[in-house]
Amino acid sequence: MKKLLVLLLLILVYVYVSQQSKHETTALLPADLLPMRSCVKQLHWYLDDIDPQFSLSKDEARQVIQAAAAHWMELVPELHIEEALDGFPIRFVYDERQQKQLMAARWERNAEQMSDWLSRRSESLNEDIEDYNEQQAELAQQRQALEQQAAQLAPNDPKRNNLAEQAQSLNEQVAELNERYEQLLGRQQDIAKVGEDYQDLLEEAPAAGVMEVGQYQQGGVGGSKMTIFAYRDQPSLYLTLLHEFGHALNVPHLDNPDAVMAPQMSHQQLTQSQPELTADDIAAWREQCE
Ligand SMILES: [Zn+2]
Repeated sequence: MKKLLVLLLLILVYVYVSQQSKHETTALLPADLLPMRSCVKQLHWYLDDIDPQFSLSKDEARQVIQAAAAHWMELVPELHIEEALDGFPIRFVYDERQQKQLMAARWERNAEQMSDWLSRRSESLNEDIEDYNEQQAELAQQRQALEQQAAQLAPNDPKRNNLAEQAQSLNEQVAELNERYEQLLGRQQDIAKVGEDYQDLLEEAPAAGVMEVGQYQQGGVGGSKMTIFAYRDQPSLYLTLLHEFGHALNVPHLDNPDAVMAPQMSHQQLTQSQPELTADDIAAWREQCE
């Protein structure tokens, strides 16, 4: 008799370029086509190979895995997710996906830094321009007042000396102001140059794409296993582990784009410093465990 193997592949994909990315909801299998689920309350896992190209130590990986398990257990007290050698392996398999993740992350950091720099500099330049305009208006007013006074004095009036001194001081201030104007122009040019670089960078954005970054395979010849292919930083690894643990607990993909069990991770989720399971994720576990 043929052995019946239920191979259930559930994957987590990242949309690795965010700006353009939207949630593309991938069609889910109708519930009656999904294999029968059983309520899982106890999970055992162990940390298997980590490709050295990840530059991730076993201790670091174990900490993130333990934290993801702890978060599930914190919100669902019935769960026991423990490290044990009789559990399923968690492997880190390195390929071009990780390179793409890191490239996309680096690009995003650059774009963010440039954009910050541009808005800070523009703001401070605008303030200084405003200040310059005020001073210019004030000096113009003073000059006009002097001219009026001079027009009222007879050509040989001794007060003219005094006015001449004032005019001299005014001219010095105008010269200073002109210097400041040159500086402002220079700053404006610098900002425009960086603005052009920024536009170039935006055009070089890595193509929007979707990649599978984690996988939980249930059953099969070698038994269940979890594989991590790519992550951009520790919070995103944590998020992937939360998601894959969800699959190990038989939680299906959810339509809610903010859920950890959404089929694709949004940019917002990927850039969270502390991803969290949502009420929908927990409800989905409860539903199939009733
Ligand atoms: Zn998934």
